[in-house]
Order: sequence, then structure tokens, then C-alpha cells
Amino acid sequence: MKYPVNEVFETIQGEGVYTGVPAIFVRLQGCPVGCSWCDTKHTWETLTENRVDPDLVIQIDGEIGRWSELDAKELIAQLVAKGFTAKHIVITGGEPCIYDLRPLTQALSEQGYQCQIETSGTFEVLCDPRTWVTVSPKVNMKGGYKVLEPSLVRADEIKHPVAKQMHIDELDQLLEGIDTLGKTICLQPISQKPRATELAMKVCIARNWRLSIQTHKYLNID
Ligand code: SF4
Repeated sequence: MKYPVNEVFETIQGEGVYTGVPAIFVRLQGCPVGCSWCDTKHTWETLTENRVDPDLVIQIDGEIGRWSELDAKELIAQLVAKGFTAKHIVITGGEPCIYDLRPLTQALSEQGYQCQIETSGTFEVLCDPRTWVTVSPKVNMKGGYKVLEPSLVRADEIKHPVAKQMHIDELDQLLEGIDTLGKTICLQPISQKPRATELAMKVCIARNWRLSIQTHKYLNID
């Protein structure tokens, strides 16, 4: 199976449970969810005129909606050719779960990579069972997609952006009836402003949840 890949780069995972871990980010093109504050809007459309040679996506893309079709074998060959050394792979987007990620995550896991998927939870998560699934729920977005209960059930980590109390209430509603035992729940302040951080810290302490800080924004890295 081929996937439209927007960019591939090696960096440090900046947020969530794997914060600080060297990671290869594989960003897939395509997302219909429509978050107004999305910082990767260039991944929304998979336009034929933006299709490029695979070599061009194995470098930091910046904010261009170009993409190349690669299957798992071709992607792994590119990672090796590029000399990437990280063994943790973050499959992100766009919304990666619009695709069946089983062939990709299975092939990567068999090569010794630890896969992590970052998804909005609005599509069924189809992946190898060894994959770490991070759901960052996107509620009431323009595209009209609902956060799916099976995605929350599959999640190893639920990472929720927080600015105000309404975001905590929103998360409480989503988690109603979900067994969270064994899952890591992270609150992530939306901005670096003290108000959001203080609220997230207060709730994390009260509920024994984890605070996720977007460390890459402080380090000024991708
Ligand atoms: Fe952007 Fe992610 Fe929302 Fe899609 S789900 S619109 S890529 S933030």
C-alpha cells in the first residue's frame, strides 16, 4: 500500500509521553477535520499538481503541500539512505488515520522501529498492535467529524489541549464510560501563557494526570 508522504525529518519528540526521545517524523498528506487553529493546513489537500519525487519529501518541507507516494519498503529504504539513527517513528499528519496504517506500522515494527501514531481520534485507528497510539481529540471542528469511542479505547495516550475549564469539561465528556486504566492522560496547555499552564497543572495534580509541555516551542525546533 502506498501513502502520500508530505515530509520526513529527524528531531526530538517535543510533547506527550515520549518527550525528549529522538524521533523520525513521517507526516502524511491529507486531512478533512478542519481545525481552525491548525498549524499544518498545507497538509489538508492532496493535490495532483503537488506530487513530487520521493527525495524531496525526505527533508524538512516547511509549509508546502507537496507529497510523494511511498510504500513501507520505499520509506524504510529512504530512512536508511538518509542515515537517520532514531528508532522511534511518529506517524502524523494531516490526519494519518484516514489511511489503513497496518502495512506501514507492521513493516516498521518488524524493522525494529517503535511506531507512534498521532491522531485526532475522528477515524478508526488501523495499525499494528505494537504501535503506541496518541489521540489528541478534536471536538466540534469544521469538518463535522466526531471523536470515535473505539479510537479512545485503542489509545495508549490521550493528550488534550487546554486553555480554559471548558476544555477539561469536554475531555470529561469524551471519557465518560471509557476505561482509562493503563492509559496516560496528558493535558497540554494550548499556549505558553501562564493561565493555560496553571489550569492544566492544577487539574493534572488533582487527577494524577500528566502535564505535556510543547518543549519544541521553547527549544525553537520542529
Ligand atoms: Fe490540522 Fe490535525 Fe486538525 Fe487536521 S486534525 S486540521 S492536521 S490539527
